[in-house]
Amino acid sequence: MITFKNNAANLVEDFEENLDVRLKVLLYTLDGFVQNEIGDKSIVITSIMRPENLKSVHACGRGVDIRSRHFTRREGNKIVEFMQKHFLYMHNNMYLVKFCLKDERGKKESPHFHLQVDRTNELKIQ
Ligand SMILES: [Zn+2]
Repeated sequence: MITFKNNAANLVEDFEENLDVRLKVLLYTLDGFVQNEIGDKSIVITSIMRPENLKSVHACGRGVDIRSRHFTRREGNKIVEFMQKHFLYMHNNMYLVKFCLKDERGKKESPHFHLQVDRTNELKIQ
């Protein structure tokens, strides 16, 4: 199940109105993977739009953060492996980013998984 941090109305609205549809597809896919391979744990969306950060994909609906702390290390690794195996950022040498999922569990402040898509309409699935 996909849920929202603190049931925040702004996150629900961002999900419905502003989030890139490709990210919605990725979130539903990830939710299905978690339900099938890990168990009854939610995908908790913690951040979508951060318009003040102009250089970020969060400024334009092409980025979404999800909670990682309720997954064990091993479960989190399965999530990273699954997403990075199948969903590639439209990568060419211009970009430093290769995967749609960036593993931010190592962050001190707010560990999470970050998902993003390229500005083109394409999404590379393999
Ligand atoms: Zn993010």
